[in-house]
Amino acid sequence: MNQNNKTNENKKCPIEKKCGGCQYLSKPYFTTLDIKKKYVIDCFLKEKIACKIEQIYGAKHPYQYRNKMILGVQSQQNKLIYGFYQENSHKIIPLDFCILHSNNQNEIAKVIFDCIIKLHIHPYDEDKKTGILRYVCIRESYHTQKCLVTFVTSKKELPFKEELVKQIIDKCPNVQTIIQNVNPKKTSVVLGDQDRILYGNGYIEDKLCGLSFQITSKSFYQVNPEQTEILYQLVKDFGNFQKNEIVIDAYSGIGTIGFIISKLVREVISVENNPQAVSFAFKNAKENNIRNVKIIQDDATHFLLNLAKEQRRIDTIIMDPPRTGSTPLFLKSVLKLNPLKIIYVSCGPDTLARDLKILLSSYNIKKISLVDMFCWTKHIETIALLLKK
Ligand code: SAH
Repeated sequence: MNQNNKTNENKKCPIEKKCGGCQYLSKPYFTTLDIKKKYVIDCFLKEKIACKIEQIYGAKHPYQYRNKMILGVQSQQNKLIYGFYQENSHKIIPLDFCILHSNNQNEIAKVIFDCIIKLHIHPYDEDKKTGILRYVCIRESYHTQKCLVTFVTSKKELPFKEELVKQIIDKCPNVQTIIQNVNPKKTSVVLGDQDRILYGNGYIEDKLCGLSFQITSKSFYQVNPEQTEILYQLVKDFGNFQKNEIVIDAYSGIGTIGFIISKLVREVISVENNPQAVSFAFKNAKENNIRNVKIIQDDATHFLLNLAKEQRRIDTIIMDPPRTGSTPLFLKSVLKLNPLKIIYVSCGPDTLARDLKILLSSYNIKKISLVDMFCWTKHIETIALLLKK
């Protein structure tokens, strides 16, 4: 275990109990890692799988690590309130300062809401279907500290938008681009389908493992940049890639993992279903001069099923599905494709164990490590290497 993690004194958060976002904030950091380790082992035990964890990578900087802030907006007693939603509720806990986010993001949030309140832009009311503003999202580049701001609105009209944009860019030099996203649906999903750029070029740039990435409002991007570099390095180490390998990067987002390993192998095939992420994967490949990654926009299961029918030679499959995990059909196709190695990256230990159970008919678990991407919360990232029996 990384001895640097010893944080003797915990930072205090005035709304810890009410907010509920950081379940373990009152515990010593070391203890939180032990709890997470035990949780992963328990998830595996439930599926009757033995789990020997090689290492847990705690964070050197367990505070202010998040590069993305999602703030809900509500009217409470005729006052505009902004902050995080209390877990499993429709209630927003007013934000003062969140210790998981940078000073930069916290300050920008304050300025933005100051402007919103002064301009009398009304929060959206789900029940009455009145008002406009649903969320404000701030995404920060770890490398440049520049930010992308997204206003999520219930309809296309955003009153005083020119004035709002002007005030924000005047007061916040780190805001590089501003987007309006329209989400009229009754849903807990934050972003809708339509994006409109209000200022700048619509994306920010970040660097990871020596490569540059353009990030938009919608594309998936890991929330903890320092720990992401550790995770991606582990993918390289676990993969022990050979120059002639053909590798699949499934659930590839804007292409990060595939691009990072592309120099080590013959070809990477990336598959991702989000069209905006895919279009930025193409841009990112060009930007980084990467030519041996084939980027496919498709449902990962549908794509793998077809690949398995063609009996294509695949040496390694890297998969990094959402928290809900993969599908039985995807996993069956993996078994059919019969790669030498499978690297499963997961932010849901329960669905990971469920999915591994299917793969263990033909594979052995060689190594499992954990990376604490989500310090103080109950979540943990797992990486597992499977080798053909
Ligand atoms: N590997 C990437 C992204 C991981 S997050 C990274 O490290 O940044 C999971 C990704 O899976 C998201 O980009 C999401 O859009 C994508 N996804 C979700 N369901 C999918 C499906 N059925 N088929 C393909 N991609 C999917």
